[in-house]
Amino acid sequence: MVASNCRIGIIGAGTTGVYLASLLAEQGFQVTLFEKAASPRTEGCGIFLIKAGMEALQQGNPQLCQRIMRAGDPVQKVEFRNLRGQTISSETVTHQENELPGMLIHRTAILSALLDFLPPGCLHCNAELTSVVQTSDGVTAHFQDGSEWEGDLLVGADGIVSKVRSFVVPGVEPCYLGDLVWRGLVADRSFCPPGNFIVYARGRGIYANFFHIGGDRTHWGFFIEVEQQEPGRLRPSNPAIPAAELAKLAADARSLIASTPPEQVVSRYSYDIDPLPHLYAGRIVLIGDAAHAKSPTRARGMCSGFEDALSLSRHLAAGADIATVLEQFQTERLPIVHEYQRTSRQQSQQIGRRQKSAA
Ligand SMILES: Cc1cc2nc3c(=O)[nH]c(=O)nc-3n(C[C@H](O)[C@H](O)[C@H](O)COP(=O)(O)OP(=O)(O)OC[C@H]3O[C@@H](n4cnc5c(N)ncnc54)[C@H](O)[C@@H]3O)c2cc1C
Repeated sequence: MVASNCRIGIIGAGTTGVYLASLLAEQGFQVTLFEKAASPRTEGCGIFLIKAGMEALQQGNPQLCQRIMRAGDPVQKVEFRNLRGQTISSETVTHQENELPGMLIHRTAILSALLDFLPPGCLHCNAELTSVVQTSDGVTAHFQDGSEWEGDLLVGADGIVSKVRSFVVPGVEPCYLGDLVWRGLVADRSFCPPGNFIVYARGRGIYANFFHIGGDRTHWGFFIEVEQQEPGRLRPSNPAIPAAELAKLAADARSLIASTPPEQVVSRYSYDIDPLPHLYAGRIVLIGDAAHAKSPTRARGMCSGFEDALSLSRHLAAGADIATVLEQFQTERLPIVHEYQRTSRQQSQQIGRRQKSAA
């Protein structure tokens, strides 16, 4: 095992970084988690956490996995409708007793559960990484407020617009996928019964989905195909949904979206990144969206971050030294995440989104 007095810094307290920090702390490493925001981002909407993501949680922390199971709904039925609201197909989703289900759940519930497994003092907020310097025997991270951290390994879990990535693979730009997306949470449990995932199949330049996430809350996503008129921006400057686009959706679905309080709606342009040629450089390694942000079509985003965290923690627990561990981690994960990225983008293009272009 890499010595437990090894100092590991993680940049980014999203779901990937927090899960890794909890696993490494449990293994006895000296872990420090840095987040640029004043507190971890608990905003966010519903998440479809597929079975593979649940398995990555179960294998790392069964107690955490149980908590996630109690906080959401197992997916039970997937229904495809046309834009007039007529059912095209409906599929019942079953799982064996010894299998974990995919879960429909609020992102906030996932992040809150993860944060509860962090040891006290591990998380440092208002800590925006600005640069990294490596030597043969250590790595130093510099932060916006002038502070610095010195350690043995730095992990970039800082999302799609990753600062850490520029020290591993310079020059990577997010690629626009052709959709402007709104997501919201609305108080309702009749339109979409618990466990149901309803998809309004793509047509006339729009697409929508709905699922219940426990309690009386329903998540919706509404996508429109547009040219990127604000290059480089993640969020549109005008967050309003164009009425003419919403009008293309069946009336009951449309009114559910329209009844959502504005503070419960987020909007953003949809991006992925090209597959990276490598995941580490020296003592810096990338995980989660920083390493392989992808189109949401296969719902692999959060799941693959949990898989990365589990894999890296296992290699650190078993490996002889950091260089060997990072090589083993990359050998295991690179082909898997490349396949996720390739197929997610391919599916995204097949179902109608435009060809990618640089942001
Ligand atoms: C709207 C939406 C819906 C989605 N739905 C699903 C779904 O249903 N199922 C699914 O599996 N996936 C889904 N995804 C994808 C999934 O949410 C992401 O893949 C996952 O959240 C990535 O987690 P992460 O921790 O790697 O990155 P992030 O969640 O982006 O976290 C990165 C963190 O790093 C911090 N940070 C950034 N830069 C710095 C810096 N310089 N210094 C310090 N901190 C920094 C950020 O503030 C942030 O807290 C969705 C994504 C979006 C946008």
